[in-house]
Amino acid sequence: MPNSQDSTVSVGQCLAWSAQLEHVSDSARLDVELLLCQVLDRSRTWLYTWPEKDLTETQLTLFKKYLERRAQGEPLAYILGQREFWSLPLEVNSSTLIPRPDTELLVEVTLECLGNSTQTQRVLDLGTGTGAVALALASERPAWLVQGLDVSPEAVALAERNRERLGFSNASFTVSDWFSAVSKQTLYQAIVANPPYIAPDDPHLDLGDVRFEPRSALVAADQGLADIQQIAKTARQFLAPGAWLLLEHGWEQGEAVRQVLTELGYDKVETRKDYGDQERITYGCFGGDAL
Ligand code: GLN
Repeated sequence: MPNSQDSTVSVGQCLAWSAQLEHVSDSARLDVELLLCQVLDRSRTWLYTWPEKDLTETQLTLFKKYLERRAQGEPLAYILGQREFWSLPLEVNSSTLIPRPDTELLVEVTLECLGNSTQTQRVLDLGTGTGAVALALASERPAWLVQGLDVSPEAVALAERNRERLGFSNASFTVSDWFSAVSKQTLYQAIVANPPYIAPDDPHLDLGDVRFEPRSALVAADQGLADIQQIAKTARQFLAPGAWLLLEHGWEQGEAVRQVLTELGYDKVETRKDYGDQERITYGCFGGDAL
């Protein structure tokens, strides 16, 4: 970064500093634009319309701070404090996983499995994090009652803030270690989860954004399958006859997850591929005929 102590720095000059992010980001230019938009509270179009505008001292100090954090590898979503999921702007922070585009497939398949009946359907989202999946489902189906659970009180508070800001009254969030806070009397039409599924020794954990995300949201024992196994086993007590369990998993875990579900007595077990053509969501229905 040039020493700008005595001179002013323009928007155009700031944009040129993207070179400093090329070692951590495949989208260095876009990252710098988004950081600058946040600092200036302006759109990307504005940056290109007014490249000669100078930053104030306060703006420049903040921008340099953001740039430095990003150069250290901190995920852009944590610096901006926001990430879009299913077209919903969500607050994010380091207490949760950053919502991934691939997880939108979990929403899509859940909507397909339950159909678009306008009846009330109860849906549980385990390990909800930012509330992304629960809120996306609540936004699509106002008649559904979507309950998001997370073991982290910080995550639940974050999800609740997202719910409140987006104004969905058909979603709610509760602290729960998987099913621990779920009433035994309640049955659900779908239980969904994007649980931790990365094996503890996976080298992917030392690369990129995941280094900054909570390990508890990423890593599971038994080659990443321990939580999937536990959820699939316990979920059977909470599924209405013919209701669905839908799980996100790693790209190489499709076969293992299909086997887990089949052995536990789920029917109609299938896997769907994500936008990168990798097996990503496996689902099945339990008891009775599929809804
Ligand atoms: N899909 C994420 C990744 O591989 C991990 C998400 C998860 O563990 N649930 O980076």
